[in-house]
Amino acid sequence: MEIRVRIAPSPSGFLHIGTARAALFNYLFARHNNGKFLLRIEDTDVERSFKEMVEIIFDSLKWLGLEWDEPPIFQSKRLDIHKQYVNRLVENGKAYRCWCSQERLKGMQDAARNQKTDYRYDRHCLNLPDYEKKRMLESGTPFAVRLFIPEGKTSFHDLILGDLTKEHKEIDDFIIARSDGRAVYNMAVVVDDHEMRISHVIRGNDHVPNTYKQIIIYQGLGVEPPQFAHLPLILDKDRSKMSKREGAAAVTDYEKQGYLKEAVINFIALLGWSPGGDKEIMQMAEMSELFSLENINPTNAIFDLTKLRWMNGEYIRMTDDNRLVDLIRPFLVEQGLTTNLWINSRWTWMLKFVQLMKERCHLLTEFGELGKYFFVSNFLYDPKGVEKTFKDTDVVSKRLEKWAAVLRATDDFSAKVLEEQLRALSEEMAIKPAELIHPIRLSLSGVTGGPPLFEMMELLGKDDSIARLERAIVFLSKKQM
Ligand code: GLU
Repeated sequence: MEIRVRIAPSPSGFLHIGTARAALFNYLFARHNNGKFLLRIEDTDVERSFKEMVEIIFDSLKWLGLEWDEPPIFQSKRLDIHKQYVNRLVENGKAYRCWCSQERLKGMQDAARNQKTDYRYDRHCLNLPDYEKKRMLESGTPFAVRLFIPEGKTSFHDLILGDLTKEHKEIDDFIIARSDGRAVYNMAVVVDDHEMRISHVIRGNDHVPNTYKQIIIYQGLGVEPPQFAHLPLILDKDRSKMSKREGAAAVTDYEKQGYLKEAVINFIALLGWSPGGDKEIMQMAEMSELFSLENINPTNAIFDLTKLRWMNGEYIRMTDDNRLVDLIRPFLVEQGLTTNLWINSRWTWMLKFVQLMKERCHLLTEFGELGKYFFVSNFLYDPKGVEKTFKDTDVVSKRLEKWAAVLRATDDFSAKVLEEQLRALSEEMAIKPAELIHPIRLSLSGVTGGPPLFEMMELLGKDDSIARLERAIVFLSKKQM
């Protein structure tokens, strides 16, 4: 049997994490089994579907590396096909027309609510005499189509959840086509999955109630349903349901916040799946090799942002420096720290910059946030640092003066030589190296922490380092006044 799976997002919003995970699992399942991964846009709900969202869904999937294998299917272009299948069900007596007015239906629903019973359609239109049905049909009165739910139950074997059963008395004769002729979600999905020859439907377990209904439709049509695998829910750390609408849950937001796609993919793969053991860091190829539905844990997965940040840091450190420069480039430009032209003309310098910073960054945005002093020299000094390190203004000023004098006389500006010279100066002044290092760092960067000082100076260069020391000395003299 050919393995064909799909992801079927509705373009009513961004591609959120839940759908991205379903896409990834379908993709991995297809790759692992030499199958096909397909994309269907479920855009039949005109009021809630947006063209721009389709583009964003495409871009998000592509960004994550989840490319589909055949042209995408747009459900809205298939309304006539859905209708043909609805008619087939009506003709075979598996579904029936319903002319009931909204008022009548609402009356029954209200009555059920008042009596605290479950509402079931009373099959009024199914039981109309034939001549009455004929008369209604000929009068052109709009009608919905309802699926006839026979007595009994529906069972299926879920590849993650095991054997599941639902008694039919719990299912209403639900509408499969509205009075405007459009098939509803459950009907359209069955038709499209069938025509796309989908072998496995892998989706969130919030769809289990739909699956029973869809299986009854498959049976009505006399076609074999696909196999089903329902994925665990994704919960927030406080165990509440991750909201689809929550901005932070959109894939594009993670991109904007400075996450690497490899980290996001790796992280979402672990939302319910694990290859066994304590293996966590995996690239797509390895995941495809190891993936199986048997290793999906049916219990709820917890979305832990701290872990994603950690993982992103790991991926930053694994990333080639040239690519890293390209990745941080848009953020540095957006942060107003530099321009593309400047970056292009100082590529080697940029490589050294990322080498210095990559150890301490968890997000691509942090290169600019934590290392902005590499690009600008008119920064403010961290007040806490000033209080601690610039306290004794005279003494500190003198130390900075001395160090500036050493630098002026130095031609070899390599980290190694600078370190030797600083140690020599501290010996000469009979103070600990740290007593020089801390105020120098604050003078050069405005902050108290960061990459090794001597490498930082090497990267800033002689002129800039001296200018920054002089600026700090001026600051200290003003502070004294
Ligand atoms: N459009 C549905 C959703 O976004 C698809 C569900 C399915 O995979 O069948 O939830």
